Amino acid sequence: MEADLHIHTTVSDGCLSPAEAVRLARDINLQALSITDHDTMGGIPEALDEGKKLNIKVIPGVEMSTEYRHKEIHILGYYVDSGNENFQTLLELLRKSRQKRVKNIIKKLNGLGCTVELEEVANLAREGSVGRPHIARVLAQKGYVSSVKDAFEKLIGYNAPAYVERYKLLPKEVIQLVLKAGGVPVLAHPGLIKNDSVIYNIIEDGLRGIEVYHPEHSPEEIRKFQIMAFKNNLLITGGSDCHGIDRLTGSQLGGVTVPMYHVEKLEQASIEIKWKNKQKQTREL
Ligand SMILES: [Zn+2]
Ligand SMILES: [Zn+2]
Repeated sequence: MEADLHIHTTVSDGCLSPAEAVRLARDINLQALSITDHDTMGGIPEALDEGKKLNIKVIPGVEMSTEYRHKEIHILGYYVDSGNENFQTLLELLRKSRQKRVKNIIKKLNGLGCTVELEEVANLAREGSVGRPHIARVLAQKGYVSSVKDAFEKLIGYNAPAYVERYKLLPKEVIQLVLKAGGVPVLAHPGLIKNDSVIYNIIEDGLRGIEVYHPEHSPEEIRKFQIMAFKNNLLITGGSDCHGIDRLTGSQLGGVTVPMYHVEKLEQASIEIKWKNKQKQTREL
């Protein structure tokens, strides 16, 4: 019995609706899945409903972007209390900054002679949140660049002419907000960071888990992160980071999974975090 703990839906930049993701998980015999959209928990209620109907365990999740030493660091939050106001304010801030950034990038691109309109970019994102990958796809479709990768290198990536800084939150700030909202903060795809000292710093920020299994991790990296988890007393998670079936290059739902044992540990950790938060509150009263 296995679980896929990293899935994007149409609520952010995926192609499957939350209910479709749950049905697909059932079809491929998964016992559990986590919906981890970018900066939003909007898909969770729909997934929970479908999960109840099909007897599939749905773990509420969210993936948030932070920045540390010019590296984009993604933090996953599992079992966050969705009613926590401070946490919802954080997500709204992240979503708004994402939209504002896209608008500013388009302004810069137009200034450079690349005619890109917000509408075209928004169409690609459908109802999900817009981001740089959508702009890159429009640039490639229109022939301004040869590929999405090329778009990042020549135009919109770090230090490129149409690069726009994003509103920066540190991993530490997000980790602390996840904990305060009763959630379990986990470092997403550490293999993409390519800098172990950065990872060790984030571990010290209060991290509780590390995504050991991810489609972009090599077998050597998986072993390295298993050892890192063991030595630092971190929970182990993993998932496909899939964005849906009509993305040709992406990984598929259920492509990377973890045994249910890790899900139980994750749930246990969230119960402990919530219990400690409650005790702290009573002490403060
Ligand atoms: Zn990510
Ligand atoms: Zn992701």
